[in-house]
Amino acid sequence: MKNKVSTFAKSLGLCAVLLCGVSADAEEQVLRVGTEPAFAPFEYIDESNSELVGFDIDLIKAVAAAEGYSVELSQMPFDGLIPAVLTGQLEAAIAGFTITDERKKRVAFSAPYYDAGLGVLVKAELKDSIKNVADLSGHSICVQIGTSGALYAQNDVKDAKVTQFNTSTETYMELAKGGCDAVINDKPVHEYYLAKTKPQNMHMLPEFITSEQYGIVIGKNDEKTQQIIASGLKKIQQNGTYNSIYEKWFGAKK
Ligand code: GLN
Repeated sequence: MKNKVSTFAKSLGLCAVLLCGVSADAEEQVLRVGTEPAFAPFEYIDESNSELVGFDIDLIKAVAAAEGYSVELSQMPFDGLIPAVLTGQLEAAIAGFTITDERKKRVAFSAPYYDAGLGVLVKAELKDSIKNVADLSGHSICVQIGTSGALYAQNDVKDAKVTQFNTSTETYMELAKGGCDAVINDKPVHEYYLAKTKPQNMHMLPEFITSEQYGIVIGKNDEKTQQIIASGLKKIQQNGTYNSIYEKWFGAKK
């Protein structure tokens, strides 16, 4: 007994010196995650309080929390996110990233967490001449740099004159002032923009022109983070948290 007490006392002393390993670890469970906050409703700044909000933001916080982690979010340009994961500055990135084979050569992805796809916004005055994506050939198209929409405009639209911008917001501004005939980007983002802004001079083609899935970007060799995110995502999909986040941003699932 005496022995036990003194061992306990010693470990308390040791604990004080090391700031008590266990609780210090618990406090330091932080995931460093990057995003690009001009992609509503997935990630954007709420103008009423300057907070970073969105479906992806709620999702990554819930995924991390399910594994006992908190999230430290950094904001950077979209085309800087994968490089920041590659250098280890970030452990993960969430920004409506489409899972593509090209990206998979450089980084790992979580399981898909959202079904999306590209859509086309056109100048309202071209509504009758641009009825589908084939009609876009020869037209000027604004895109966001480094995105699947940018690649589509460059590779799949015949004779397109493509101009790249850093953010989706700038592409919409350019379309609004007539600087391009169309914008190609993720359709849910177009939809949210139209619903919020109600621009009179834009028209959206009804169809998805691609079908894509979003995944969380993680370092290829970072098995620890891959495992945390895989397990957290599975938990929130099973316990209903994913569904409530989905409903908060998009309404009930069809
Ligand atoms: N889903 C598109 C992509 O991955 C656009 C993402 C974004 O602009 N945030 O390229």
